[in-house]
Amino acid sequence: MPGIKQSPWILHYDASSCNGCDIETLACLTPVFDVERLGVVNTGNPKHADIFLVTGAVNEQSRDVICNLYRQMPEPKVVIAVGICAATGGIFRECYNISGGVDSVIPVDVYVPGCAARPEAIIDGVVQALGVLEQRHKDLAGTGAGMDEVLYLRAEKSNAPQILALQKAAYQSEAGLYGDDGLPALQQTLEELEDEFDRRPNREASYLGARGPQKDPEKDPDHVVFLKAVANGRIIGAVRGYAVDDTAYLSRVIVHPYYQGRGMGRRLTEEIEKAFPAVRRFEIFTGHLSERNLRQFHKLGYQEFKREPFTPAITWVYLQKERK
Ligand code: SF4
Repeated sequence: MPGIKQSPWILHYDASSCNGCDIETLACLTPVFDVERLGVVNTGNPKHADIFLVTGAVNEQSRDVICNLYRQMPEPKVVIAVGICAATGGIFRECYNISGGVDSVIPVDVYVPGCAARPEAIIDGVVQALGVLEQRHKDLAGTGAGMDEVLYLRAEKSNAPQILALQKAAYQSEAGLYGDDGLPALQQTLEELEDEFDRRPNREASYLGARGPQKDPEKDPDHVVFLKAVANGRIIGAVRGYAVDDTAYLSRVIVHPYYQGRGMGRRLTEEIEKAFPAVRRFEIFTGHLSERNLRQFHKLGYQEFKREPFTPAITWVYLQKERK
């Protein structure tokens, strides 16, 4: 972290500014303010950036670009909204094509007021952002230090807000793969997720007459089971599943982007399978371009058995495996 704090790399994007805030932002780089002498680097590559600095309100054309740039930035990252337009939509907020401030599409950490925002205020915003970035680094590194002691536990309904935040962060890369923010995991609301905790899928199927008799809850749970992966008291992974008849339907194996590639997705899948000891078959699905997921499920013994188009860009691949 000391290196990043002393030399933050900033990605500057003009969402639909009148150029006023952009000129003030670039003035920070001129000899009068010369933030480069303090180590601040203005980069054009989101994959190298720590801080995302956005000017202007979000319109129909910039919305997807903002999401795309944001999801390409590595964790941890911080977003600064510069100027009143980036904060709220400003004088353009009632326009037909404006959806509002930057926080209408991505989370914003620091707001710099002004129309236009003055260079001194922008530099002050960057300093505030560095504090947020430092705290995030500490949190992630602290949690990472406890990776050897990750606990896989049943999640409670009260965990829904953390699971939803994790889900939205984890699915950013999937949205990037398909160029589509309409993935159900990204659209889910807190209310919908909380309702999922109360669902009894086997009973629903039974009432509809589409399935056999109700399950014995002593053997397999008759509600949706949520598991969470917890490290140093923080939820960094989750998965859910439910059983109907002899099949357990598993979904949304999610791992915080900072901790991906460490085998946690595989472990979550194995743990949720154990939650349904009486079923004979497991089913799971993912998008056709999600090669990492497909590879992982194949390693766990799942085989593809059908594909279904979901949108023009996304086809769901369904995989199954029999209990050995
Ligand atoms: S806040 Fe003012 S100067 Fe900045 S983009 Fe909006 S209208 Fe332009």
